[in-house]
Amino acid sequence: MASERTFSIIKPDATKRNLTGAINQKIEAAGLRIIGQKRIRMSQTQAEGFYGVHKERPFFKSLVSFMTSGPVIVQVLQGDNAVLKYREVMGATDPAKANAGTIRKEFAESIEANSVHGSDSAENAKIEIEFFFKPEEIVD
Ligand code: ATP
Ligand code: MG
Repeated sequence: MASERTFSIIKPDATKRNLTGAINQKIEAAGLRIIGQKRIRMSQTQAEGFYGVHKERPFFKSLVSFMTSGPVIVQVLQGDNAVLKYREVMGATDPAKANAGTIRKEFAESIEANSVHGSDSAENAKIEIEFFFKPEEIVD
C-alpha cells in the first residue's frame, strides 16, 4: 500500500488532561508522520458540519457540545496505509471494547469523550483535511 493521508483530531477530553504529547508519541511510534497540526477551538458550525453524517443520531447534540467544549488539535497524518493504521492505533470507539495499547484503551474517558478522531476512508480523509487545512499548512 502506497503512502496515504488521514485526518486526526485530539479531542477536548485529551487536550484538557495534557495528553497531546502522549498521543502524538503513539502516532509517531506507529510510523505515521504528523505533516500538519494546529490547536483550534472548534465552532458550533464547524462541529455540526464535521459530524453532519451523525445528525439524526441521539448523541449528536451532546457530541457537538463536547467537541466545542475546549481546544482540539487537528492533524494530518501521512504514512503507509495511514487510514487503517491510525484506526488500529486509536482502538474501538468504545474504550471498554478497545484493544490493549490503543489510544482509546489507555486514555479515553467514555464512548463520547474518546480522546481521538480518525477518518474512516481515504475519500473522507481528503474531505476532512480540506475542511480544516489550507494546502500551505501541510508540509510533507
Ligand atoms: P470518530 O469518527 O470520532 O473517529 P468512530 O468512527 O470510532 O469515531 P463514529 O461512530 O463515527 O465513531 O462516532 C463519531 C463519534 O461520536 C465517536 O468518536 C464518539 O465521540 C461519538 N459517539 C459515537 N457513538 C456514541 C454513543 N453511542 N454515545 C455518545 N457518543 C458517541
Ligand atoms: Mg467515525
